[in-house]
Amino acid sequence: MRHAEDTEERQQFREMTRRFTETELLPFANDWDEAGEIPWEIHEKVGALGAWGFGVAEQYGGLGFDDMYMRCIWGEEAARAHNGGTLAALGGRSISIGPIEKFASQDIKDRILKDIVEGRTGSSLGVTEPGGGSDVANMKTTARQDGNHWIINGSKTFITGGMTSDYFVVGARTGGEGLNGISLFLVEKDMEGFSRTALDKKMGWWASDQATLYFDDVRVPAGNMLGDEGRGFIQIMHNFNYERLGMVAQCLGMMRVLLEESIAYAQQRETFGKPLSQHQVIRHKIAEISARVDATEAWVNQICFLTENGQMPVDQICKAKFFSTKNLEYCASEAMQIWGGAAYLRGNVVERFYREVKVMAIGGGSEEIMRDLAVRQMGL
Ligand SMILES: Cc1cc2nc3c(=O)[nH]c(=O)nc-3n(C[C@H](O)[C@H](O)[C@H](O)COP(=O)(O)OP(=O)(O)OC[C@H]3O[C@@H](n4cnc5c(N)ncnc54)[C@H](O)[C@@H]3O)c2cc1C
Repeated sequence: MRHAEDTEERQQFREMTRRFTETELLPFANDWDEAGEIPWEIHEKVGALGAWGFGVAEQYGGLGFDDMYMRCIWGEEAARAHNGGTLAALGGRSISIGPIEKFASQDIKDRILKDIVEGRTGSSLGVTEPGGGSDVANMKTTARQDGNHWIINGSKTFITGGMTSDYFVVGARTGGEGLNGISLFLVEKDMEGFSRTALDKKMGWWASDQATLYFDDVRVPAGNMLGDEGRGFIQIMHNFNYERLGMVAQCLGMMRVLLEESIAYAQQRETFGKPLSQHQVIRHKIAEISARVDATEAWVNQICFLTENGQMPVDQICKAKFFSTKNLEYCASEAMQIWGGAAYLRGNVVERFYREVKVMAIGGGSEEIMRDLAVRQMGL
């Protein structure tokens, strides 16, 4: 859908990412799902595309500018990989680059950021704990100061990229209870006392790895604290805005793929002597899916417009997240109905996206928490 701010640069970026996705990612959707991983060279190719360079200076491999529309274009077009697991394998990095870029010391940035942004090494964000992910302010992992170090103890789980990343942005309690007692740290994979185990047998996102991380008296140099002590909760919440909007854009892309695949299937599959697309019930399903794609797209553009004009509309982002995941759930279910038994067989995008709905609805802030936050933003 064209809109007033759809500039030539943004259109070119969309064309480039679509071409990249359709040639470099899409053909391997099923193979990577079954293999449970993607080749590392894909990280480097996406790095070269600039997908992780928004808001990052050129000296660190970044683009030297930020653009929320383009961030969302990447999220939306990447869904054409037909495999959310591929995007998750690539994306653990995208939710941890922001805190490193904004809050790491010059020394750390010089040492690690370029390799991360250009896809040579991986980084992950560690917020969720075995005891819970929704109640971030109540996290239990601790960091105790010891001279020029912090000693971290605790555990994180469901961490995307956890088995393959070299660097981890980790929230830990440095102060008292509640949101003011949390700070962010950069933990490095070779630090003594750090270990990890893979989470296996997931419902979806097979091509990506998730891990439980263990911190057993991990000594972290004081310089690895990211930003100021006690500011971790605010930093995490700010970072969530980007993660959540990115997920909304990805939901939009997934819905669009489901629409296109439903139309294509309905045009070639015949029942009762005519194509499915000529049966009114199926036509209505396609109209409904299409309307939900349009509504989500309009909302993404509206949020991008606001952010590009200096606002961070947290309430809109929270509402758009649960709105888009509920719509994705609907579209995936209806696309399954249009495809019938064919979608029940493993290895096609409708089946895969149907399995991947729930991680979009739970990860990065669940539908329940998004509703709660949205209402709080309304002053209630
Ligand atoms: C595949 C995958 C990848 C992930 N990747 C990462 C990652 O890279 N980094 C990371 O830090 N985390 C990651 N997560 C964790 C994810 O962010 C959490 O699963 C999510 O925040 C919910 O936390 P929880 O699972 O602990 O559920 P809980 O917090 O235990 O909540 C359980 C259920 O109760 C609901 N609930 C909780 N509190 C309330 C309330 N007050 N009112 C109503 N309902 C409520 C929740 O919505 C949820 O449905 C990932 C999760 C998955 C599944």
